[in-house]
Amino acid sequence: MKDRILIIEDEEKIARFIELELLHEGYEAVKCGDGRTGLEMAESGGFSLVLLDIMLPELNGMEVLRRLRRTSDVPVIMLTARDAVMDKVAGLDQGADDYITKPFAIEELLARIRLALRRSSHQAHENTQDTPDDLLRCGDLTLSPSRHEVKYAGKEIELTSREFDLLNTLLVNKNIVLSRDTLLGTVWGYDYMGETNVVDVYVRYLRSKIDEVFGISLIQTVRGVGYVIRDENG
Ligand code: CA
Repeated sequence: MKDRILIIEDEEKIARFIELELLHEGYEAVKCGDGRTGLEMAESGGFSLVLLDIMLPELNGMEVLRRLRRTSDVPVIMLTARDAVMDKVAGLDQGADDYITKPFAIEELLARIRLALRRSSHQAHENTQDTPDDLLRCGDLTLSPSRHEVKYAGKEIELTSREFDLLNTLLVNKNIVLSRDTLLGTVWGYDYMGETNVVDVYVRYLRSKIDEVFGISLIQTVRGVGYVIRDENG
């Protein structure tokens, strides 16, 4: 079944752009240009995820989120203006799952959507029964987000939490090349002020703990673009 995504965004150009990209990725997308209607639509259910702008007519995004959280735990990704640090903090406090700063690269938004959908489908499983099928796989490598555990052919691999997040992001976006900027934004966050080659450094850490130990080439470098984990078996 296709995931339906609600876009609450009053800037028609941005909303239309996101809508087209989502349709292209195989999602269903519904747009709404004001907060009040957006809240009603989100409350009516049937959406897998909501993209929520903050500056909206009728009802601002923060208020939409606050009211929505009374009845719904649908994943919400906030679309915030650059430098609006207070908005981000307040949004996360009110129960947003993630935020992305405008202007954003669509690749980055898509990577975050996949992560949020993956998390929420896993939580849905967890609430019904103890299902081990949240495991992410690539060949003999498995990653369990709930247990925070990575194994290769059954043998456990010790990772730091940042290494784990990076591997998780690459696995959720398997077969999709992610740029350094996208990985930086998704794993380290937008306010990261350190060295931009931190992604390369952490890819090296992962390779030294996985590829070199087990003699595989899990994380592939795509020159001039970024990194990808490919499922060689399709
Ligand atoms: Ca707006």
